[in-house]
Amino acid sequence: MAQHNQPRRNQTRAVKIGGITIGNGHPIAVQSMCATPTTDIPATLKQINSLQAVGADVIRIAADNKKDARALIELRQQTPAVLSVDLQENYRLAEILAPHVDKIRYNPGHLYHHERNKPWRDKVQYLADIADKHDCAMRVGVNAGSVDPDKLARRSFDRSADTASESVLPMVESALEHSEWLDQIGFTRYCVSLKDSDPKKAISAYRQFADTRPDIPLHLGVTEAGMPPEGIEKTRIAFEQLIGKGIGDTIRVSLTLPYDDKHREISIGRQILKDISAGQVRTVVHFNENKLNLISCPSCSRVENEAFIDLAEKVKATTRYAENHAITIAVMGCRVNGPGETDDADLGLWCGPNYVNLKKRGKKIGAFKYDEILAQLDSALKSLIESDRTTLECSGYKNPSPA
Ligand code: SF4
Repeated sequence: MAQHNQPRRNQTRAVKIGGITIGNGHPIAVQSMCATPTTDIPATLKQINSLQAVGADVIRIAADNKKDARALIELRQQTPAVLSVDLQENYRLAEILAPHVDKIRYNPGHLYHHERNKPWRDKVQYLADIADKHDCAMRVGVNAGSVDPDKLARRSFDRSADTASESVLPMVESALEHSEWLDQIGFTRYCVSLKDSDPKKAISAYRQFADTRPDIPLHLGVTEAGMPPEGIEKTRIAFEQLIGKGIGDTIRVSLTLPYDDKHREISIGRQILKDISAGQVRTVVHFNENKLNLISCPSCSRVENEAFIDLAEKVKATTRYAENHAITIAVMGCRVNGPGETDDADLGLWCGPNYVNLKKRGKKIGAFKYDEILAQLDSALKSLIESDRTTLECSGYKNPSPA
């Protein structure tokens, strides 16, 4: 039975998001994000309603352009849900949307793409002023696939070859720097997330941050966890290790699910919380490093071809033969985050409207039609298994005989 001590959750600041409050011992809030195109108002409203029906505390919606912003304003008129806007490069949309939402999520790594000569501190000040004026909370949402380029440049190491705690340092430094700046300019109504698709790295990033800043509420998540049941397992491992130690004030379970099943993210999140509070957690959790690791993103409005969800399922089915190989395959839904999110994978796929891009250990192999990609992946996977086998044989490793 695990030890239950939850000192940190009572130490974090209370942060009000619409009608709910996170931090300072409040119940852990469970969130999700709409995966439908934001401009498809009926489909997005249907998803919001289905998430609300199962008790979502906060619902996040992406807005990348003015069309999305107009749709989100329209959605606001039709739902009482607590809404958070997810901003990426186009951070100035905050100005249009803040009066209509309860929370603004920005990604420090994406603040660099627009107005490159403007210091990031000015951009954060602008966001904080808008949030303050319109009674919004904020989230500093750091993501392993899009870390602040400055932080990465200062640590020129091979992320995949490092230990989990070293490899997440750029994420932790970025989150700490943004938190310090927000505090300095007097905006304290925010939480922080440090998401990685590898639960070990996510655990390490959250722990390191919480050790330095036990006062800041944390939004927990394993990004692109994949499909059930493996995606649930990865998330459960991270949440057990963190929440079991008092870290985490709000959660999101990121799963690749069909639109009509998206509400499961909420019920699965609640079940994990229930199990943890009932003591149904492990004292030691080992994530099996000698098995095939399939990562896929939960999909969001940035998906340009719905065939992505079907493709993720097919990748899982057609790569089963490699289950005893320590290979990571990442399947991502879009061209915005896909290239970065697949950097650490042995084989990475990211989807465009008509083509799927394929990358092998950091090098792009090509872009293939949806009906060609599985054959290409299969041949890349086989060549990877073969080259790993040759490397092991050359190093004198002998495969142990099966028991
Ligand atoms: S990879 Fe793209 S489609 Fe998938 S969740 Fe991230 S932004 Fe959305």
